Amino acid sequence: MKFVDMQSVGFRLGASVAIVVAVLAGVSAVAIHQLDAVSVRGEALVREGLRKVTLARSAQNDAQSEATRLHSLFLLGERDRRVPVYLEIDRHRASLYASMMKLIDSAGREDERSALERIQKAREAFNSASMEAVELIELDPDASDARKVMLEKTMPALQTMLAAIDDLVSAQAAAAERYTAELTAAQERSKQRIVFLGFLGSLVGFAFSWLIARSIAVPLRQTVQFADMIAGGRFDGSLPAGGPREVKALTQAFSRMRAGIASREERISELAYRDPLTGLPNRSLFGDRLRQAIANAERSRYPVSVLVMDLDRFKSVNQVLGYEYGDKLLKGVAARLKEALPRKSDTVARLAGDEFAILLASQDVREATGVANRLLRSLASPMTLDGQLVDVGASIGIASSPEHGREASLLLARADAAMDAARRAKTGIAVFDPAMEADSEGTVSLLSELRRAVAEEQLILFFQPKVNFGSKRCDSVEALVRWQHPERGMIPPDQFIPFAEHTGFIREITKWVIDKSLAQIVSWRRAGLNIGVAINVSARDLVYEDLPSFVDDKLLEHGLGADRITLEVTESAVMDDPKRACEALKRLAKLGVRLSVDDFGTGYSSLAQLKRMPVQEMKIDKSFVLELPTNPNDTVIVRSTINLAHSMGLEVVAEGIEDAQTLSLLQGWGCDFGQGYFLSKPLPAPQLEAWLRGHSQKMLAAA
Ligand code: C2E
Ligand code: MG
Ligand code: MG
Repeated sequence: MKFVDMQSVGFRLGASVAIVVAVLAGVSAVAIHQLDAVSVRGEALVREGLRKVTLARSAQNDAQSEATRLHSLFLLGERDRRVPVYLEIDRHRASLYASMMKLIDSAGREDERSALERIQKAREAFNSASMEAVELIELDPDASDARKVMLEKTMPALQTMLAAIDDLVSAQAAAAERYTAELTAAQERSKQRIVFLGFLGSLVGFAFSWLIARSIAVPLRQTVQFADMIAGGRFDGSLPAGGPREVKALTQAFSRMRAGIASREERISELAYRDPLTGLPNRSLFGDRLRQAIANAERSRYPVSVLVMDLDRFKSVNQVLGYEYGDKLLKGVAARLKEALPRKSDTVARLAGDEFAILLASQDVREATGVANRLLRSLASPMTLDGQLVDVGASIGIASSPEHGREASLLLARADAAMDAARRAKTGIAVFDPAMEADSEGTVSLLSELRRAVAEEQLILFFQPKVNFGSKRCDSVEALVRWQHPERGMIPPDQFIPFAEHTGFIREITKWVIDKSLAQIVSWRRAGLNIGVAINVSARDLVYEDLPSFVDDKLLEHGLGADRITLEVTESAVMDDPKRACEALKRLAKLGVRLSVDDFGTGYSSLAQLKRMPVQEMKIDKSFVLELPTNPNDTVIVRSTINLAHSMGLEVVAEGIEDAQTLSLLQGWGCDFGQGYFLSKPLPAPQLEAWLRGHSQKMLAAA
């Protein structure tokens, strides 16, 4: 750091104080000098004047004393008495002469000199008159001539000299007066000069202080404005370039602060508005842009289209290949979408999971459909991730503004409904249609109706016998739910179970079925029938961890052993998330509950995977059984499944037995249990009781 820094606030303040002090010191010095000069000069003048007046007065006295001595000569008769008088006269004359000489020596002004000349002349006249009178006295002491000379010459000469000396004294007084006036004027001038210099010094000091204050205050004020702009979220303000060193350091610190805040704000908005995985805008940012695009489109009367896209089979990719692989797939899809949509005005966003959305500014339904086709084509070629090929398909829903709505959330919801429709219909692309919305409106009302169905006991259980081929007896039944709708009549489970699974309401239904089934077992037991019940459990039930404890509590409540119930879990439910399903099944198995894999053959499980599950039973799906006598493929599948299951220690149930031939084929292949219309349709409890008591034995005998 430099020792003296002229750019520093400290230096500037120091300099301004020094300048003010220097100016004031200068003014004081000048004032003191002026006053000193005036007073010294005044003092000298007064002293000189006084000396001259004293000399003049002394000369006057000497002249008068001489004249007095002269007069006394006339009174002294003898000469001896006159001699001392002569000596005195000489002394006075010498003293007068000396005074005169001094006055002449110091005479300065013209009037003074002329007055002295006159005195000198009068003195000479007086001296000669005096001499003449003395000479006459010495000749004749009573001499009247001497008196005459005295009266006519000596005295007038004395008078003239005295008057001249008076003139000199008054000239000196006048001069003294003049000097005094001059002195006063000089003092006045000095005073004015001092006031002027004082004013000038203050002015210079003030000007310097103002300039320095300004050089600090102006950049500081600009810096404050700059800070206020940053506070208001604007980063384009300009900082002052100049100013003292400390202010410059401050503005530079502000500049660094701005850069820091700006980059952090950018990062925050990145986090708030970007999907961290793909770097695409997220739902919030997409919503903002959509609102903006709709507002612009309203003004310019252009259409705006929204595409919502969902990947097919993404869930299974995640489950089979792992989440890391799923993440890579999503990144790959994001890259392809961006590549297929090079227009800057189009926004590609990731809304959630495998759901993407695309905003097409100023494109109508027809153009949007073209873009959707292009996007599907861009995804059509399989992706290679970690050396593995994956085939990703997608379903796209399209909604356009103003045709399908003028509000962002509505448009997005409608594109979503269209996407659902496209997926259900497997058409790839669907444009929104009001009929699709009826579906989703229906969803809400269906859910509340279902709730009421459970609360108001509109659900009823039918039971279908599971016949044991070995004992030729029926010792268990499958509980199958139906909905006795007050207006729509009996609704089969296919029409509401998938919906209940989708909305999570299946938990309530499952709990209801378990409770009712256990109550039914107790009731049959009282009636002398020892029947077990198989209860269907869906994939969603396995997700909730409270199922095992619920089953346990209910068994305890009804006083039943766990071996009285079988829980049927569909193969696809197990394969959706094998790890989780396996854990849930293990906890259920711990209770002692029998577990069965339902609809076997419809999923993609291998027997090896099933082997790791704690299941005791396998139900071959009815689709393999219904045409068993006529379809050789089914024959092969069913026979080998029975053999494999047996080799793994599992019992086999065949469902969907509709005729005697199928029944005997299955029995012949060693199938353990059978279920089907040929044996009995699902029946309400009272009819089932009757079936069990009467018809069953006949039926089985016939088989
Ligand atoms: P599932 O568990 O495989 O039940 C067997 C289905 O096959 C029953 O249909 C039954 O009526 C039908 N079936 C039985 N024998 C024959 C036959 O010989 N021919 C034909 N064509 N069909 C036969 P349902 O009762 O309509 O049930 C359909 C599905 O609904 C069930 O399939 C099950 O997955 C589900 N479901 C039924 N009740 C419940 C329940 O309480 N909870 C859960 N989670 N799902 C249930
Ligand atoms: Mg079942
Ligand atoms: Mg089944």
